[in-house]
Amino acid sequence: MTLLNSDFQSVRDWDNKHFLHPWEGMSYLGQNERTFAESGLGIHVVTEDGKRLIDGPAGMWCVQLGYGNTEIADAMGQQAKAMAYFSPFNNANSAPARLAHEIAKRTPGDLNHVFFTTGGSTAVDSAIRFVQFRNNLLGKPEKKIVISRQKAYHGSTYLAASVSGKERDKGWLDQASDLTRFLPNVNPYTRRPDQMINDFLDEKIADLENTILQTGAGKVAAFIAEPILCSGGVIVPPRGYHQRCLEICRKYDVLYISDEVVTGFGRLGHWFASEDVFGIQPDIITCAKGMTSGYVPMGACIISDRLIADVSGDNGQDATFSNGFTYSGHPVSAAAGLKTIEIMERDGVMEHVRAITPFFEERLQALADLPLVGDARGMGLVGCVECVADAEANNLLDLDKSVGAMIDHHCQENGLILRPIINMCVFSPPLIITEGELNEMFDILEKGIRLTTEDLTHQGVFKT
Ligand code: PLP
Repeated sequence: MTLLNSDFQSVRDWDNKHFLHPWEGMSYLGQNERTFAESGLGIHVVTEDGKRLIDGPAGMWCVQLGYGNTEIADAMGQQAKAMAYFSPFNNANSAPARLAHEIAKRTPGDLNHVFFTTGGSTAVDSAIRFVQFRNNLLGKPEKKIVISRQKAYHGSTYLAASVSGKERDKGWLDQASDLTRFLPNVNPYTRRPDQMINDFLDEKIADLENTILQTGAGKVAAFIAEPILCSGGVIVPPRGYHQRCLEICRKYDVLYISDEVVTGFGRLGHWFASEDVFGIQPDIITCAKGMTSGYVPMGACIISDRLIADVSGDNGQDATFSNGFTYSGHPVSAAAGLKTIEIMERDGVMEHVRAITPFFEERLQALADLPLVGDARGMGLVGCVECVADAEANNLLDLDKSVGAMIDHHCQENGLILRPIINMCVFSPPLIITEGELNEMFDILEKGIRLTTEDLTHQGVFKT
């Protein structure tokens, strides 16, 4: 008997007994009924009981080109057979060198230095460590504070978690709080009913400027922001927000780190969203997830020529940027990244995403008319429905904070996986999804919301 052929109940038991999952709820440790999938094709995964489900979140916003892509798998296999690994510390391999070149060609402006990492958290961690390193070399060791935002998610390593602003994730773990400041919620949906969107925008920009002034510009090193605040509930900032934040950063000599771990590699129909969608050229971009279409782990922190010039050559002071990983620029991951870029370009994936986005947004907006839905928002191929007990009152369903999980349950019964987050459901399907498949996805989602509304109405929790 091979391990893969073990009977399924044993596998479920082993998973519960030995695999400590990310974000494990400790009170229920060992009692989980997780969905298993052992195969997939295109936008679908196939679960342990043979059900074919549309993968609404594309894994964790990463499987851009869908499942079962033999071209990516073959490229990885060929690389593994030819040269599985060669230390990136003192040596080199052509696959990551070529990938760095291809990425630099697609980044905005002078972001030409690609530091490869093992995922998004290590990309963010490396970005912050580079900012600290640069300020130490520039003789400004006191300039270290990073400004982030409530509800931001930047990862799970110590520094990346420290600049993450999701309150519920902070309860039981330590943070490098001395290095961070957080700006209030940037979600336009939460603004006062009488507040115009431009006034809200002015307030958010003032929050950034005031925080820099209160902290002292000489102490603030960087501002970090996701173009769209994704895990925090797909929060799309008001038009002009990032440009005005960048102006404030420039005014006070604060670096701008754009965390494109989700938005990079096509999610909004462009290689990177910072410039093409939001009109900014940040100092550093972080990316991961979609860069290998989720087939194998990889991330990158991409740094501008300007910043690198400050710490290299005559300015290098014999310093070493002592930050890196055994698997920085892993050849097999790089081969997957190169093939992902090649396929995206050859098959016009960016053009396809831009072409079907209006349809995605139309169907998304229609969900806002359902009584349980308070807000339906998104951009490109990423969306979120936020449920409320009373849309007028704008308050959360506090009687049942698991409404997202209820919708996901109904959707899974009908052929769709979602990503439930408390009272929200988030979805970001593989970029290869067709208009017909999008239609099916939204039909199931709408049905799931209606069924959940009926459940909550029967329970007396929800009144229309
Ligand atoms: N940054 C953003 C914006 C993310 O959404 C995530 C993960 O969801 C991360 C960083 C962390 O990436 P990883 O889980 O690959 O470490």
